[in-house]
Amino acid sequence: MSKLVIVGTVAFDAIETPFGKTDKILGGAATFIGLAASQFNVDASVVSIVGGDFPQEYLDLLANKNIDISGVEIVKEGKTFFWSGKYHNDMNSRDTLATELNVLADFNPVVPTNYRDSDIVMLGNLHPNVQLSVLEQMNTKPKLVILDTMNFWMDCALTELLNVISKVDVITINDEEARQLTGEYSLVVAARKIHGMGPKYVVIKKGEHGALLFHKDNVFFAPALPLEEVFDPTGAGDTFAGGFAGYLAKTEDVSFENMKNAVIYGSTLASFCVEKFGTERMTDLKSKEVHQRLQEFKNLTQFDIELT
Ligand code: AMP
Repeated sequence: MSKLVIVGTVAFDAIETPFGKTDKILGGAATFIGLAASQFNVDASVVSIVGGDFPQEYLDLLANKNIDISGVEIVKEGKTFFWSGKYHNDMNSRDTLATELNVLADFNPVVPTNYRDSDIVMLGNLHPNVQLSVLEQMNTKPKLVILDTMNFWMDCALTELLNVISKVDVITINDEEARQLTGEYSLVVAARKIHGMGPKYVVIKKGEHGALLFHKDNVFFAPALPLEEVFDPTGAGDTFAGGFAGYLAKTEDVSFENMKNAVIYGSTLASFCVEKFGTERMTDLKSKEVHQRLQEFKNLTQFDIELT
């Protein structure tokens, strides 16, 4: 089984959706990625930073999922990264109400020594220079480097972002961000342009409309499972990325064919994430439930047309 190192935020989130509102709860890109990857029982380590205000029980929650947290720095006198967002009736778009970097502003990630030979590196949403620093700490060339990012970094650190994009194998990005990054409306053209920036594989996430995987001239599409109720989409993109990375780490196969399955796993796990606020659904998710939903996914997408 491959080793997986994940860098990203471990955070407090405050979320408002048409269904309700939370105070500060557990969030962060690395948290969602780690929880999703833990479904595959892989050897995963989270590299991040929190303040002295971060409850031990949240760290224990990750550790109890067998996620190595020795790379999570605790700055006793600092405050944890805080993000707040509000969704309207159309849950595909959200307003960011607050992004307080706090301890993240001076974060120098340190990859634990025993994870510097990881086969898969998952660069979760963070300042691109922090993502780059993690890459530079690897002692051996990873089999696969996956990068996730968002418009926030395109707005404030585009040059650094383009630099790290040029060094990764896979980028996962949502449709609006792909358009912003390339200035192209067509996602096919946008993916081609992103290929030109470096990544051989481009995954474009389209929220409730599924995800596209591009590699050279090949495209694979996975729909999102139609759900009765989407309660809170926060973390769905990260959960997708964690499922994608976790599956590839478990199967040790980074071919395009296997990435199709990774996209399906990512979509399946994301479909659970949105059913409850924050990380709530992911913390008690059973592998039996995942298996059952994968079957639903298969039923949804399989058809048998005879082509003459
Ligand atoms: P997603 O819904 O998948 O885009 O991810 C939401 C998570 O990303 C939340 O738990 C936030 O804590 C985290 N987040 C929001 N903004 C940022 C940012 N600028 N950098 C890193 N993480 C962020």
